[in-house]
Amino acid sequence: MPDCLFCKIGAGIIPVHAVYEDDACLVFPDIGPQAPTHLLVIPRAHYASVVGVPPQLLGHLLQVAGDVAARELPGGFRIVANTGKDGGQTVPHLHLHVLGGRHMGWPPG
Ligand code: 5GP
Ligand code: ZN
Repeated sequence: MPDCLFCKIGAGIIPVHAVYEDDACLVFPDIGPQAPTHLLVIPRAHYASVVGVPPQLLGHLLQVAGDVAARELPGGFRIVANTGKDGGQTVPHLHLHVLGGRHMGWPPG
C-alpha cells in the first residue's frame, strides 16, 4: 500500500466515522470543514486525482456523492474535486468534496 493518508483511511487503518461505505468507497466528514456539512468521498483504491480513473469507478463515486448529499442536504449542495497544485489539492489521493448547509454560490455569503 502506498504511504498515503486516504489509503490508510480506506483500509480502516486510520478509523473515521463513515456516513456511507461499500466495497469501492468510503464517505466521511472532512477534518477541517469549509461548510456546515463537509464530507469527503474516497475510493479505497489509490488514484492520485480524477485523471485516469476508470469511468465506472468515477461514475460510482459521483453517484454515491450525489445520493449521500441528497439525503443529508435536501436544500442543495456542491461537489468539488480539487486537482493538482493550481487546483488546491493537498492530499494526493482522489477525493470528492461534498459541501452544503449554507448558500454555496459565488460570491460567498
Ligand atoms: P484537498 O485540499 O486535497 O482538496 O482536500 C483534502 C481535504 O482532506 C482537506 O479538506 C482536509 O481538511 C482533509 N483532511 C486532511 N487530513 C484529514 C484527515 O486526517 N481526516 C479527515 N477526515 N480529513 C482530512
Ligand atoms: Zn492513496
